[in-house]
Amino acid sequence: MTDKLRQITESIAGFDAESLRVEIAQQAIARCIQPITDTEQVPLKQALGRTLATDITAPINVPSHHNSAMDGYAFSGSELKQATITLTVAGKAYAGHPYQHPVKTGQCVRIMTGAVMPRGCDTVIPQELVTEATQHSITLSADVIKAGSNVRLAGEDLPVGATVLNKGRLLTPSDLGVIASLGIAELAVHRKLRVAFFSTGDELRSIGQPLDEGCVYDSNRYTLQAMLERAGFEAIDLGVVRDDPMALENALRSACKTADAVITTGGVSAGDADYTRELMARLGDILFWKIAMRPGRPMAFGKITVDGKDALFFGLPGNPVAVMATFYFFAREALFQLQGTTAEKLPMIRAISTYAIKKRKGRTEYQRGVIAFDSNGTAHVQLTGAQGSGILSSMSEANCMVVLAHDEGDIEAGREVNVIPFNGLI
Ligand code: AMP
Ligand code: MG
Repeated sequence: MTDKLRQITESIAGFDAESLRVEIAQQAIARCIQPITDTEQVPLKQALGRTLATDITAPINVPSHHNSAMDGYAFSGSELKQATITLTVAGKAYAGHPYQHPVKTGQCVRIMTGAVMPRGCDTVIPQELVTEATQHSITLSADVIKAGSNVRLAGEDLPVGATVLNKGRLLTPSDLGVIASLGIAELAVHRKLRVAFFSTGDELRSIGQPLDEGCVYDSNRYTLQAMLERAGFEAIDLGVVRDDPMALENALRSACKTADAVITTGGVSAGDADYTRELMARLGDILFWKIAMRPGRPMAFGKITVDGKDALFFGLPGNPVAVMATFYFFAREALFQLQGTTAEKLPMIRAISTYAIKKRKGRTEYQRGVIAFDSNGTAHVQLTGAQGSGILSSMSEANCMVVLAHDEGDIEAGREVNVIPFNGLI
């Protein structure tokens, strides 16, 4: 197994493990993933954010009958021959209470929105367009309405037999409504991806422990758990692991046994990675990359295998902002792919940079920004200030990432830049 991934990833044009462009690293990861195929049946109400395992085909027309789009009067469009028409009101049709008889020439039916169109009727005149109306008859002028108006046709939303939603789709609130409109109570989804994670570092303390000199509280497990849950994955927290090869090996082994994917933070930078590399090489097929990005340069990616069971592996850097950036821009999409779905690409919008931004060419930079819209709807963005990869509060202050492309240099004030809003992402 070892080196198999290396062959896959290094076959990509422009691949350079020592300074890997973000897009190439993303492509390389995508090539190495085999989606899970296990499925389960869930009730519709529990299907939000799950991955659809089979196509949904419409068993019925939606709507099931022609029905009125307005409150008014239903009649046959063939009545519209003279300039002024008087029709007798033959009865009433309410939503859920159809008018049961055929409608004859010279007749109309009082009808409410959603009521089934009576037989013989193909047109609805809204009540406010009628010239005169009593309980027994209406008068209308032919030039205010066209034959066939204000009727919703059977199957115009979903025709019977149509493929309504495709396998692999990440189910949204509207999807659940659409499936409900078809009368489907349960559906097959891929099981939730199980993602185990742990932090590494002798300096890390968990909440509740005293903060010894030079130590920090472990924040990465909290951001990771939250990011995983937002994406709809099952997050398995394996705690803090010391910078010790044995402890690390044990943690990786148990993570691999319980999860589809394992994420670690810390300990992958050049200085402290040596024994990690050796250890990981033994456990699987791990590639160490230096990504041409900031924050988040060092990253390990691959597969670990324990007792014949594989898990995808992401060794993220330790710095808290780098953890979030590498999760969002590498792990998130890969995990969706592993779950059998294609996450929609994160939306990128253009915004005018209020101030000049320093940017080094030759790496993609993700800077934390605050975007605001002026009264014309134009987006303006400014950075949150300190951009150090340890300054996690900058992520809370920000509402978007300003994405400065690999080949871009310094940005002048007033120039447009790409931003990825956090809405929907975090
Ligand atoms: P490392 O990648 O292990 O060298 O860590 C880089 C920096 O990130 C160090 O300053 C660490 O203290 C910090 N760091 C690593 N892991 C965590 C964590 N789980 N929570 C907060 N800070 C961390
Ligand atoms: Mg460390």
